[in-house]
Amino acid sequence: MPGKTALIVLAHQEQNSFNYAMKEAAASSLKRKGWRVLESDLYMMRFKAVLSRDDITGKARVPSHFRYAAETLQAWKEGRLAKDILVEQKKVERADLIIFQFPLYWSGMPALLKGWIERVFTRGFAYSFQAMYSEGPFKKKKALLSFTTGVSSSMFSTSGLNGDINVILWPLQNGILNFTGFQVLEPQIVYAVAHIPQEGRAQILKNWEKRLETIWDEKPLKFLPLQDFEDFTGGFVMKKDVEEALSDSKYGPTVGQHLRMPLPPDSQLRSECSQL
Ligand SMILES: Cc1cc2nc3c(=O)[nH]c(=O)nc-3n(C[C@H](O)[C@H](O)[C@H](O)COP(=O)(O)OP(=O)(O)OC[C@H]3O[C@@H](n4cnc5c(N)ncnc54)[C@H](O)[C@@H]3O)c2cc1C
Repeated sequence: MPGKTALIVLAHQEQNSFNYAMKEAAASSLKRKGWRVLESDLYMMRFKAVLSRDDITGKARVPSHFRYAAETLQAWKEGRLAKDILVEQKKVERADLIIFQFPLYWSGMPALLKGWIERVFTRGFAYSFQAMYSEGPFKKKKALLSFTTGVSSSMFSTSGLNGDINVILWPLQNGILNFTGFQVLEPQIVYAVAHIPQEGRAQILKNWEKRLETIWDEKPLKFLPLQDFEDFTGGFVMKKDVEEALSDSKYGPTVGQHLRMPLPPDSQLRSECSQL
């Protein structure tokens, strides 16, 4: 994709890990297809994951009670965010596609990656109450989660001990990626990576490279658009006519907005599985 830029954000400590191999495979596949590839190797960068007053330069608006979102919004408007945040925001701005590569920790992202999101996706830059979800600042960009797990896919099934992977994915894919406007592509999941034979892992890397060759053409997962909801004064609940139109369906519209109906199967895994 000549002219397109990808950013890979990697959260793994070890260069001989499978996550690092996934990052390397992605970078080389995309480059072969003409993408410019930027990287943020968070452990190697020793990226600071903890929010603090040092995230702005200059004087705080209300030093007696530092409200992080309000202070960083003002600092973003005035170009006073800390340098390491600005560097990462520049990469996000340049990226058409962002790949988050990480091992699943405690059913979510590693703290370091969560900290990157908390510090880099500041108010104003990544969201506002006027620009969020389908109207979010990143609505022209695509993003995907690529992660490995310790345990098997059966443990993440609807009857598995960990519970439905769609439920685990919802806060990450909806609450972070969809919220900021990204078109969310199907996640790349390697279950129980340490228990796969070596040849199997080599094949997974090849398949990942192959998928990336045409990644830009993929259809995103479906989420309800912002227009389907009332505004701030209406409490941001689903509009009555939208709810009525969806009430005859076999499944609820999304994992989160299920309207007390059965969850739409695999709607967080595959774009064609959505009931919308
Ligand atoms: C704090 C913490 C919390 C966790 N929470 C969860 C959780 O909630 N749910 C869950 O399921 N798991 C959890 N885990 C497990 C974790 O998700 C897995 O350990 C992780 O996904 C494994 O990925 P890795 O890259 O570290 O694998 P590695 O152990 O680095 O790699 C797996 C295998 O791949 C091999 N490999 C490396 N490079 C290549 C290559 N190029 N080609 C072929 N093979 C290669 C390695 O040598 C190794 O044998 C947790 C782990 C920790 C530490």
